[in-house]
Amino acid sequence: MMDCDVLVIGGGPAGSTVSALLAEKGWSVTQLEKDAHPKFHIGESLLPMNLPILERLGVLEQVDEIGIRKYGVEFNCESREKPTTYYFKNALNKNHPYAYEVQRAKYDKILFSNANLKGVDTRENIRVEDVEFHKDGSSTIQAKDSDGNLHQWKARYLVDASGRGTFLGNKFKIKHRSKHHSSAAVFGHFEGVERRQGLDEGNISVYWFEHGWFWFIPFKDGSMSVGAVCWPYYLNSRKVSVEQFLMDTLALCPAAMDRMRNAKLISPVTATGNFSYRLKKMYGKGYLIIGDAFAFIDPVFSSGVLLGMNGAMHAADVVDGILREPASESRRLRKFDHMVRYGLKTFSWFIYRITQPCMRNMFMGPRNWFRMEEGIMSLLAGDLFRDTPVKRPLFFFKIIYYFAYLLDLRRNLNALKQLKQSLRSGALTVEEISSTQEQAKDSGISAKHVA
Ligand SMILES: Cc1cc2nc3c(=O)[nH]c(=O)nc-3n(C[C@H](O)[C@H](O)[C@H](O)COP(=O)(O)OP(=O)(O)OC[C@H]3O[C@@H](n4cnc5c(N)ncnc54)[C@H](O)[C@@H]3O)c2cc1C
Repeated sequence: MMDCDVLVIGGGPAGSTVSALLAEKGWSVTQLEKDAHPKFHIGESLLPMNLPILERLGVLEQVDEIGIRKYGVEFNCESREKPTTYYFKNALNKNHPYAYEVQRAKYDKILFSNANLKGVDTRENIRVEDVEFHKDGSSTIQAKDSDGNLHQWKARYLVDASGRGTFLGNKFKIKHRSKHHSSAAVFGHFEGVERRQGLDEGNISVYWFEHGWFWFIPFKDGSMSVGAVCWPYYLNSRKVSVEQFLMDTLALCPAAMDRMRNAKLISPVTATGNFSYRLKKMYGKGYLIIGDAFAFIDPVFSSGVLLGMNGAMHAADVVDGILREPASESRRLRKFDHMVRYGLKTFSWFIYRITQPCMRNMFMGPRNWFRMEEGIMSLLAGDLFRDTPVKRPLFFFKIIYYFAYLLDLRRNLNALKQLKQSLRSGALTVEEISSTQEQAKDSGISAKHVA
């Protein structure tokens, strides 16, 4: 039995952030990761508000080396000829005019190694299998390494940052799929995809189409992540290999497919489903749940990594405070809970409505009335947790949205009806399929084969 002050489950961005910051504060921290870095992970487009966190962790220069700068977000809609690009320099607070697009294998390794450098006992290839909580809040954690050996720790505090593995969510059976939203995605990495020019080269492109939307995320090495986020009923209709399915789906959106003329697949294609969920609670006596281990909504605004790392940064202060002053536990946890839910709620309001025609129109034709466009830019930058006055412009955006909704009531109600039908018919049976698992006969397919 080994002892530590804090045990962190998971070596993703949230886990490595909270671990590094707690070690800096002088606590003995053990961080357990079931796999080994570098490893593929989805979630490659960061937001400007990630930068202050990376700076605080001391890894900004390393991320600058592996990432391409993302100055804006480009939205494309079939009904409009030209894309609409939002630039972060136009946000309410103009201090952070860019973010990064990163290959997560490299990014997560930087963060995990940094935690180790800060003094965290980081361990890979070891999966947490069980935890027993004691009356005083401490816990006994059992983990198994890849050779099948069992290891045990006694920790004063436990942080669950196990991502979609939702370790404590599963243990306590408190994980709920979202009633309002459900998506599935299929994605891969390509070479030879047409890139934007100049400062726009690092921008993410979003293309809306009949069954959902596509992302194009460019990387520094010239490759590109291309993915389709679809209604689950559409992914369920798949009868071909996942590679073929991704290419067939791209072919439904001529503007997106046009950029794939010379594209060649360089990774397995993965499909993942039903990823909108939330746990009933994010803390209890002796533990805190952060990042995707607590909730995930949707990737459309690239908010997942920021919400995870921002939560982790605050969680480090909360856990530090609780260990120093146990009587303050419930006050600190309530405040933390409020902050995390505020971020999720603010993003969710827009995400749940993004399929509505009037919301799409407002995104495609931005107006800066009441500083609404600057407010949306601040939302897209993830600037929700500082004193930037974002609430007022977002409030006016909502008023105008409801007004526009009423003006085109029939069309919007039809879209809502369709959305509800999609949610009802969208029970996905598959959590994650990748083309390597599937051993698809036609692996290595390129866009040219489909065109
Ligand atoms: C299709 C899709 C596209 C996305 N695109 C974006 C995007 O563009 N931008 C963005 O910001 N976000 C995006 N996201 C979200 C993003 O992937 C996550 O929000 C982010 O990775 C969360 O970080 P985390 O540290 O909480 O969890 P993770 O990054 O998932 O890390 C959790 C870690 O815990 C480990 N683990 C799990 N169980 C155990 C266990 N029992 N024992 C030990 N270790 C364990 C896992 O191996 C993993 O390494 C996307 C998500 C999806 C589904």
